[in-house]
Amino acid sequence: MPASALHRQLMSWLLLPFLLFTRLACAETVVDAANVTTQPLTLTTYVSVLEDPTGNLTLADVQSPEQQVRFQGNQSPGSALAMGFTRSAFWLKLQLGNSSDAPLQRFLAVDNPRVSHVQASIPQMDGSYKTIDTGSDVPQSSKVYPNRNYVFPLTLPAHSEQTLYLRVESSIGLLVPLQLWPVKAFHAYERDDYTAKAWYFGLAVAMILFNLMLLFALRDPIYLLYVVFVSCTAGALAIKNGLAPDWSIFGEPLNSNVVYYSGVSMALAALLLFARRMMQFERILPRLDRVLRWMILAYLLSPVAYALALPYFSRAGILLNFATAVILLIGAGVAAFKRQRSAFFFLAAFALLMLGGAMTSLRAMGIVPTNLFTVDGLQLGSAMEMIVLAFALADRFNVMRREKARVQEELLRAQQQLVDNLRSSEHELELRVAERTDELRELNNQLEAMSLTDALTSIANRRRFDQLLEQEWGHARRSGEALALAIIDVDWFKRYNDHYGHPAGDACLRDIARTLANTVNRSTDLVARYGGEEFVFLAPMTDLAGVRGMANKLLQAVEALALPHELSPLGRVSVSIGVAASVPGQEASAEGLVARADAALYEAKKQGRNQALG
Ligand code: GH3
Ligand code: MG
Ligand code: MG
Repeated sequence: MPASALHRQLMSWLLLPFLLFTRLACAETVVDAANVTTQPLTLTTYVSVLEDPTGNLTLADVQSPEQQVRFQGNQSPGSALAMGFTRSAFWLKLQLGNSSDAPLQRFLAVDNPRVSHVQASIPQMDGSYKTIDTGSDVPQSSKVYPNRNYVFPLTLPAHSEQTLYLRVESSIGLLVPLQLWPVKAFHAYERDDYTAKAWYFGLAVAMILFNLMLLFALRDPIYLLYVVFVSCTAGALAIKNGLAPDWSIFGEPLNSNVVYYSGVSMALAALLLFARRMMQFERILPRLDRVLRWMILAYLLSPVAYALALPYFSRAGILLNFATAVILLIGAGVAAFKRQRSAFFFLAAFALLMLGGAMTSLRAMGIVPTNLFTVDGLQLGSAMEMIVLAFALADRFNVMRREKARVQEELLRAQQQLVDNLRSSEHELELRVAERTDELRELNNQLEAMSLTDALTSIANRRRFDQLLEQEWGHARRSGEALALAIIDVDWFKRYNDHYGHPAGDACLRDIARTLANTVNRSTDLVARYGGEEFVFLAPMTDLAGVRGMANKLLQAVEALALPHELSPLGRVSVSIGVAASVPGQEASAEGLVARADAALYEAKKQGRNQALG
């Protein structure tokens, strides 16, 4: 009855001196089972307690008058007797009566499966005691009633009183919630109790399986840490609640409290690894992270210590767990302050777990009422923690996915940029190449023109003449038309040079070349410099008469030029011309044609110069 429990606690403080005085009288209170009909009765205030630091006292010993006076009554109210971490054994004495006319059945329950030894000495009809030896360090077959807790069925004859003894001892913190239950109410409670536990373990199994699937699908070890954490937490809670079977390894029975403490260690080690990774402590809180790593190592080694000497290490284990909670809370707080997303989930998960744990503790102290939420507060808190941490994982996945998408987009943009750059530079290159090609073509044209032009006189050169002669020869042969040729040689030119100088000779050659070129007006005719002071004239589709006429025209044009030449008998520059014409086919080659013109020229020179022959 919570309200009255709180009331009683307040009263005990106010009336402390008075209570001290009446202490013995209170210890002798007899619990009337006839009044316990619908609700359980918490027996904390009704028992008197004898501490046995040696752990050697027997039932007979504690029944002796010298030990009986050592029993202390008036225990502080609350749902449990809390002895803490002690290696003493404790004897609890309870006076039970039945004021009714009928015999009564009741259950005496020790609502804590983690007490190492629970020894109940129950009076029998004949006045003797029946002793039941059970506890977490004893195989479960020792239980007289198959419940996760230690339950002792009692039979109370009508109008009777009896004295009952319980001996308790534990290798971990000793907490003894002692209750007297009506049988029917206990059965109803038992059903609700198991249902609540089933919900929790069902949830844990679902979380484990789901996150295992995520582990295989996503291959992120963080899911393994989560699965280990939930598995160890659920396993440890199962042992804490007395729901696990007896453990043994290689046929040796395992102490369930050692397994329980080890399970808690593994769960917290996994939680620390999980938290470090989720909140990136290594990066944002490197010093705290180093402490956490040592703690993880301590947790991983702790099962050895527990297995060797649990009573010596159990208190240190609890302190380590407490330190872990504080450090993790500080870490999450700082990470949240630094805007680390996962840290907010951690804080929420923690808050829920703490709230659940606090509820369970407050209920144990009788400050909050006993109901579904407070009885299984820790379990409910643990379930909420699992769910919120799973949310943290989902959020992390989401954040990572968004980050990945962002990076991909950036990469794509960079790639596009690269492609664009390449394309534009390729275009530029094409333009540049086209420009260069035009320039080269132009240059080529120039070069070609240069290679076919005589540098001094700017008319066609010997090469051009040879090409064209070949070409026209072939053409004339195919068409059957005549091809004519004239070779023009300046008279007395050596003397001109000697007399006027070489540069004047060059100028004279340029004048004659221009005059010859100007005299020819058929586009198919060609005047070229043949070499030295000799020129040629090539006339397609022209016969000998035609070329003679042309040669005379050239003689007149040079005469009209009237370039003075003092050392010439004529007193001016004159030329001699040898002509030849042929219809290809009559002659074997173009060379023959040239030879004939040359011969005619030689003849013209011989016959006095300034004339055309052939
Ligand atoms: P002929 O009347 O028998 O033809 O006598 P010629 O002196 O003209 O004959 P020759 O072949 O002995 O002399 C040709 C001269 O033309 C020799 C050379 O100095 C001159 N000559 C040849 N090419 C050039 C040139 O490019 N520039 C100048 N200034 N003189 C040249
Ligand atoms: Mg000559
Ligand atoms: Mg000459």
